[in-house]
Amino acid sequence: DKCDFCGRCADFCMYNALAVTRDNIMIFPELCHSCGGCKLVCPKDAINYESRTIGSIEYGRDRDIDFYRGIANVGEVRTIPIIRELKNRIQKEKITILDAPPGAGCSVIETIEESDFCILVTEPTPFGLYDLRIAVDVVRRLKIPFGVVINKYGIGDRKLEIYCSKEDIPILMKIPFDRKIASLYSSGIPFVERMSEWKNRFREMFGMIEEKLK
Ligand code: SF4
Ligand code: SF4
Repeated sequence: DKCDFCGRCADFCMYNALAVTRDNIMIFPELCHSCGGCKLVCPKDAINYESRTIGSIEYGRDRDIDFYRGIANVGEVRTIPIIRELKNRIQKEKITILDAPPGAGCSVIETIEESDFCILVTEPTPFGLYDLRIAVDVVRRLKIPFGVVINKYGIGDRKLEIYCSKEDIPILMKIPFDRKIASLYSSGIPFVERMSEWKNRFREMFGMIEEKLK
């Protein structure tokens, strides 16, 4: 009721979550990043915030492993609060593995911040190398120790390995481009469950990471 449609809130909002016409104001909640700026610039104190559900968190347990999964609602662009909620569930005395989304955007940075170590999973292709360079830049800026796992090893070329060698980046593991692994993956079965020789390799990789953190 207090709004006089001056448009300052819409001008301020860099996410285009508000549109003001001569006699109306439209709100697009899915685009809002909750920065609070529109409320600050509104000269009429016409803006109030309401809480809304942007996603959910699922929990499961298998043997002694707790598993949490964050799910954003369809069309939701704000994933950071969901990641924060997930990270609130970390029990410091336990080993926690966080699976970040691909790329090097805000959600990746939110996920890896304060991690002890980052495993950058990549593929030996030009796209893989391009993305890896960006990810390496991010983890170096955040000063997080890291290593690389090459997935689908055997496709593409050796440029990725040459890059890692030049940059002194440890390659922790090479997972071959293997039909059986792909088939198990597509059935939702971790390949270590059926290809038991890989269990030791993952244990060795974990040991290497522990050594690096000493
Ligand atoms: S909500 Fe405030 S800033 Fe936005 S148009 Fe209305 S009066 Fe102006
Ligand atoms: S709180 Fe939301 S609508 Fe307001 S300026 Fe920030 S992003 Fe835009």
